[in-house]
Amino acid sequence: MTLSIGRYVSPGRVVSGRPALFCDRDGVLNRRVPGGYVTAPVQVEVLGIALPALRAATHLGMTVVMVTNQGAIGRRLATSEEVLLVNATLLTQLSSVGIRIDAVYVCPHHPDAADVSDRDCRCRKPAPGLFLAAADDLGIDLARSVAIGDQPSDREAAISAGIPAERMVLVADDDDPGEVATRVCNAFGWGMQADS
Ligand SMILES: [Mg+2]
Ligand SMILES: [Zn+2]
Repeated sequence: MTLSIGRYVSPGRVVSGRPALFCDRDGVLNRRVPGGYVTAPVQVEVLGIALPALRAATHLGMTVVMVTNQGAIGRRLATSEEVLLVNATLLTQLSSVGIRIDAVYVCPHHPDAADVSDRDCRCRKPAPGLFLAAADDLGIDLARSVAIGDQPSDREAAISAGIPAERMVLVADDDDPGEVATRVCNAFGWGMQADS
């Protein structure tokens, strides 16, 4: 089995040559499962850290792209369908609090994947493949984009893709959501604060 990148692009949201807000999934949008994977909708617990920043982006009509490593698929600890269902659950919950995610890019590969051909790829962060695929599909200007992540690999992937280091916002569980929104607004140069 050779797994391709999972892509979901909301119809009618293709924007050309404009910046986007990239956002990691686990540890940013929803709580991580320590040492494991979120593989069922019941495990989806939305985190507050990035909500005001994403709400501001949604209000401004910014393209928002979720980029996520889901090596559980390659390791056969979850099916692609289960991951899609978790993502759909998350997107629905975010939508109910005023946040729109326009596209989702998933790396299903893993160094310990069951199939040897799924062990090596160009999309598992810290590789930049998910960002590059989104930029290509949606006409995103990476140099003017901003990324939010919780791991050094998120930062490395964003920078390798061409997002300037000062536009990468690294967050932790206990960060203040209002402060994260300010960092994201400043990174975009919006010169305004999001309401928290
Ligand atoms: Mg993460
Ligand atoms: Zn991959």
